[in-house]
Amino acid sequence: MPTKLVRKSNNNRVGILATGNELTEGDILNTNSHEIAHVLNLHHLPIGLHITTSDDETDMENALKFLLKHHCVIIITGGLGPTSDDRTRFALSRVLHKELIFDENCWQNIRKRIRERLGREAHPTNRQQALFPAGSEIIPNPNGTAAGCFITHKSKMFFMLPGPPKECLPMFTEAVLPQILTRKSLKHNQIKFSWHLQGASEGEIAAQIDEAIKSYPATTGYRFYAPFLEVKIYTHAHDTLDEMLEIVEKIIAPYKVTENK
Ligand code: ATP
Repeated sequence: MPTKLVRKSNNNRVGILATGNELTEGDILNTNSHEIAHVLNLHHLPIGLHITTSDDETDMENALKFLLKHHCVIIITGGLGPTSDDRTRFALSRVLHKELIFDENCWQNIRKRIRERLGREAHPTNRQQALFPAGSEIIPNPNGTAAGCFITHKSKMFFMLPGPPKECLPMFTEAVLPQILTRKSLKHNQIKFSWHLQGASEGEIAAQIDEAIKSYPATTGYRFYAPFLEVKIYTHAHDTLDEMLEIVEKIIAPYKVTENK
């Protein structure tokens, strides 16, 4: 018998917060969240919400509190520079109720980098780039002055990374992804099936499939990109899988071009 569809809030997901006025004002595209989500997805890690805020500390705090409620891993990008509008570390410290601690080693690295690259002493404002919430593990930044950090709080993981993609993305791949992959609760057993159809009406097929499998614990997704319609089905229910797939296969058979399980 098909099981009844019960939608439970699933907190075993990765949430992404991108910060920066340039993003909210539309000056630049938020490619960091896009790239990070793409890599997480390649590793079959469940992705939750993407939020974008300005540099406003209160907005960041609210976004973090919201993400905290609904995700077990949170990745934050941007706002780690030396200026007064770089507020991410302050927002994170408030949300976690952990004071910011000055890391001398990080500060010496910043000084060294600025001396070597720019031939001058670091400005005292750069010191804020060496502040991290108590208990953080520092993530080195080989391509910039803004180091990132990793911290766990109430069994949730937080990662803070700088904004520039050439800094943020290598740090994500080198330091963040391996940590996330150690998190057993994220190694979910969700199965995704997708098919490419041709000649099918998106509205019609979607309505038929959704109706036919409404009693199964599955989520559907549809994406039209000419001339194909991609149909996606996600489920955790291994026991009713074959039964459900048989129903879907019957509906899509006249249009099916490829399948991907
Ligand atoms: P910096 O030390 O350079 O100030 P930062 O950690 O403070 O780095 P931001 O000030 O948020 O980071 O961003 C610096 C630059 O990085 C932005 O001007 C923008 O060009 C780029 N950037 C920031 N966030 C993103 C993003 N989500 N996607 C793409 N580019 C971004």
